[in-house]
Amino acid sequence: MIFAAAAFGLAGLSGPGAATERISALLKGATILPPGNYRIGKRRMSCGTAKTVIAPYFPDYGGAVRGLIFLNPGKLRRLPREVRMFVYAHECGHQINGGNESAADCYAVKRGRTERWLSKRGVVRVCQSLFAGRPGDAAHPPGDRRCEAIFRCYADAAPSAKRSLVSAPASEESLR
Ligand SMILES: [Zn+2]
Repeated sequence: MIFAAAAFGLAGLSGPGAATERISALLKGATILPPGNYRIGKRRMSCGTAKTVIAPYFPDYGGAVRGLIFLNPGKLRRLPREVRMFVYAHECGHQINGGNESAADCYAVKRGRTERWLSKRGVVRVCQSLFAGRPGDAAHPPGDRRCEAIFRCYADAAPSAKRSLVSAPASEESLR
């Protein structure tokens, strides 16, 4: 999740009972794309074996449970392209790092730099579009702290020499 609290987070969705009802509400009108079939512009976005669920009623820009990346197309439409890519990569980060929001943010900007779809200006856009003025919650640090952290992560990453590098880290094993 980019913002929403734990009610719709990893723990909430994977738990028993009411979770099933919640998932079917989230899946209303949804389209499920096989791994590697989601595109932003010309770029194929992939995340190992995770499928992409285009879910119009999802309460946040995106979310993740094991093996699934949820995206809300109506909310994403309002964002610049590299910010949409950041959202996808953030949710992919959850496939690797579980519910850790800071790790998902860091994974997303590093991947963006390595794969050359995220410029420094793009990181500024992520901050402006998603984080500015956000108070944070139990799972998410306040927006200004998230922004500082992603600049540090971005600085730590090196662009790949190969333009077409697509990382595919999420195997069953890596989720455990
Ligand atoms: Zn998240």
